Amino acid sequence: MSTTQRPTGTAVGRRARLAAFGGTPAVPPGARDLPWPVITEEDRAALFAALDGGRLVSNTDGPTAVSELEARWAEFCGVPHCVATSNGTTALATALYALGVGPGDEVIVPALSFIATGLAPLHLSAVPVFADVDPVTMTLDPRSAAELITERTAAIIPVHLHGHPADMDAVGVLAARHGLAVIEDAAQAHGAMWRGRPVGSLGDCAAFSLQVTKNLPTCGEGGLLTTSDPEVAERATLARQFGEEMVPGRERDYVSRILGWNHKMNPLQAAFALSQLDRFAAYEAARQRTIPPFLARIAELPGITVPTVHPGATHAWHILRFRFDPVAAGMDGVSPVGFRRTLHRLLRAEGVPVSRYQVMPLPEQKVFTDQAGIGRGHPWTGAPPPPSAPHPVATGIVEDSLTLQRRHLHPAAGELLERYATAFEKVWHHLPTVESMARAAA
Ligand SMILES: *Cc1c(COP(=O)(O)O)cnc(C)c1O
Repeated sequence: MSTTQRPTGTAVGRRARLAAFGGTPAVPPGARDLPWPVITEEDRAALFAALDGGRLVSNTDGPTAVSELEARWAEFCGVPHCVATSNGTTALATALYALGVGPGDEVIVPALSFIATGLAPLHLSAVPVFADVDPVTMTLDPRSAAELITERTAAIIPVHLHGHPADMDAVGVLAARHGLAVIEDAAQAHGAMWRGRPVGSLGDCAAFSLQVTKNLPTCGEGGLLTTSDPEVAERATLARQFGEEMVPGRERDYVSRILGWNHKMNPLQAAFALSQLDRFAAYEAARQRTIPPFLARIAELPGITVPTVHPGATHAWHILRFRFDPVAAGMDGVSPVGFRRTLHRLLRAEGVPVSRYQVMPLPEQKVFTDQAGIGRGHPWTGAPPPPSAPHPVATGIVEDSLTLQRRHLHPAAGELLERYATAFEKVWHHLPTVESMARAAA
């Protein structure tokens, strides 16, 4: 190649100067992003049809988009009941309530999750206790959970984090042995399977989120609770509607039977989600085509661990989390934090929108360390501090990993992911530079 020729092609591009030092970014600025959610004419039409249909709250008599969504989601999960709620957090709280969790109870949750998993028990005046996670699946470690069980333990919330199912075999054994209610936090895992069965059908209750960034999005906020137990479904239905019993064909009686909230889903959100659900299987299939080859390419690079799939599971690929190990990359004495910080900076400069997801393990969140509660601190006041298992794995993951979110959910993400992979390869081509930066960054 003559020296006047401009570098073309990925092989040459990889050897080009790093974008952080003035080189050309591996991912061109115009080709960095894909929208999520994908909003089509069908989605717009569904939304306007719901608007014009006049049933703008879900407690109007007769079928609404909400009741249709409930029926379709129950069928999707292979369970008889689905109760739609205002969001995933209220679905979790409603599930805990419907299962009888309350003051004096402890609820085991993983030390690595979205904050809502830890807040939901507190909304019932129950106390979350935190178990460590598995280093490979990054979901609740059942052995760590087992160590937390006391006579106050009432429930356990396995989180299908990033879209990978938690080890529901071990959770089931633990729950059966100690009489615990199992609430799946499936907010990130629509469509994922464990041993051939869909998440949402694996515990006593499950909570999904339809928040706009999730794999099954609505145009805002929404939640879905699934269960096989008709009594749990009934309690959840009362709980989301002021404790009132709404009987089809009967006039609303305004009698509050139990302590309920207003956790109803808006029919406009349901109509949009129903329209998205029509395309869900196709989008899911596209992700199963585009994501594994991308991960396989990245996995070739030394010092990087890509998400893998447990042999008994399918992955919904909601979030792609990469762990970085400086020693495996040949950098003795470089800290994982320094390595991760350096990669964050260099990859973003190349046009890969990596980000941190969780900046601390859940039990280190201020709301829990300060024991912020209700009124004068209920349910913490006077109680002994809640046991929290040591969580070195969750801490390690927070320190040494970065994530990709949203863009890879788009059904046409294949080409973009190829570009991202090229950017990773380019950065890895400059490992000596990465190493000296990482030493300074720690
Ligand atoms: C998003 C999410 C929730 C909460 O869902 P919202 O609809 O945002 O309230 C709960 N748990 C996990 C793991 C989540 O990712």
